[in-house]
Amino acid sequence: MIDGLDRNLIDGDLRPSSSGATFATLNPATEEVLGQAADATSEDLDAAIAAARRAFDETDWSRDHAFRVHCVRQLRDALTAHADELRELTIAEVGAPRFLTTLAQLDAPVADLGFVADVADGYEWQRDLGDATPAGIPSRRWVLREAAGVVGAITPWNFPHQINLAKVGPALAAGCTVVLKPAPDTPWAAAALGAVARETDLPAGVLNVVNSSDHALGAALATDPRVDLVSFTGSTATGRRVMAGAAETLKRMFLELGGKSAFVILDDADLASASALAAYTACTHAGQGCAITTRLLVPRARHDEAVEATAATMAALGARDPQAPGTICGPLISARQRERVEGYLRLALEEGGTFATGGGRPEGMDRGFFVEPTLVTGLDNSARVAREEVFGPVLVVIPHDGDDDAVRIANDSPYGLSGAVHSADVERAWRVARRVRTGTMSVNGGVWYAADVPFGGYKASGIGREMGVAGFEEYLETKSVAEAI
Ligand code: NAD
Repeated sequence: MIDGLDRNLIDGDLRPSSSGATFATLNPATEEVLGQAADATSEDLDAAIAAARRAFDETDWSRDHAFRVHCVRQLRDALTAHADELRELTIAEVGAPRFLTTLAQLDAPVADLGFVADVADGYEWQRDLGDATPAGIPSRRWVLREAAGVVGAITPWNFPHQINLAKVGPALAAGCTVVLKPAPDTPWAAAALGAVARETDLPAGVLNVVNSSDHALGAALATDPRVDLVSFTGSTATGRRVMAGAAETLKRMFLELGGKSAFVILDDADLASASALAAYTACTHAGQGCAITTRLLVPRARHDEAVEATAATMAALGARDPQAPGTICGPLISARQRERVEGYLRLALEEGGTFATGGGRPEGMDRGFFVEPTLVTGLDNSARVAREEVFGPVLVVIPHDGDDDAVRIANDSPYGLSGAVHSADVERAWRVARRVRTGTMSVNGGVWYAADVPFGGYKASGIGREMGVAGFEEYLETKSVAEAI
């Protein structure tokens, strides 16, 4: 196992908490304690922010593009060299199904560091706008792109490597310095990043990782005047608080928040394959993905057929041990998250819904925070379970009366993070895709998740984009310079 998981990375050193306090990280599939993480104090956070500030203000980090590209590539290579340990850690701590660690839970975000390094490598840091004579003064003009400064990165537990690296990678490549404050449920994923970063040439203070059991440290990071930009992923409720708190010091703000995305099946679609895909998607990582489609919009005339096919696939997938190679749906992250999901299941019944499959804990699994994949029927889009983010393996079926109605229902949501549409007529699917107000759309099963594809939300799903060139540019400022000639 990687050394230093019980310490924070502050100013280049792996340090225990200044109070000596630790907190436990659990295996959500077994409820066993995996080990301890350093429980940072506000003094530790203060030291991390001071180190990041110093590394930004007093070194050439932000101006030495070639060195940063080298460090980010080194970080990718170092993490790749530890892939086996990181994989086991991720399955154990996150409850991530093994197959997902070869994708977005580990291998993809590590490889994607190469993409941001390449973007920084070929980036036009200075653009020459040429000569002009504004206000009668002949001038040569340039537009410079510069690092935004010290980044406070605050992340959730559901895809910790993906989200940590989708912030840290572009921020470092852009020339920022970073204080990463991960979620208390998955401290080791971030501690491992801190420990492995020490094997690279990253200078002290450029990357700091501060684990804490207390959300208050996130709030302190988001409001600290020494932080220039807050990059936050988490719930919409917390995002609102972070944004309000950061207003005092007018920070730049990047928010990736919740979702309640629609999977639209049009009446000419291949129902069997579309509903199987909807079921797989809803069950993946027990539904703990902000971009997972959790409302299934089906043609009213084919409602029963769609319910039967989707329920059959969800029941067959079941909730299983994440270690097993074929598992799609593992455990929820915590007892608290399971209570939340079970609360929504009770609410679905109270609102008049029924379960076509699932609805409780899987039989014979006494340990672990498992919930059965559940298909809710009999509700319309006004039900709370159809409007609020459940973050569990729960899919709500809603009948629609044609393309216009499907678009209306898809858009009748406070969120706009992702979505999917299926039709035998690809032009028709595209027409629907264009009308859904959302940050990503899949047409007939297309996969948008990739290093070069910007990801983020409309409406209450967030502000800004992560990944792609747009995700890199979130960490840049723009400076215009004119020289009299
Ligand atoms: P959360 O909002 O409770 O916590 C997220 C992070 O914010 C954690 O690190 C937490 O310690 C910190 N935090 C809590 N209160 C804070 C405050 N007042 N100020 C600053 N930081 C604070 O979310 P969670 O339960 O960890 O994660 C689940 C949520 O994240 C879901 O709603 C999910 O949709 C969302 N999410 C969104 C995306 C996306 O890209 N849009 C990705 C993953 C998860």
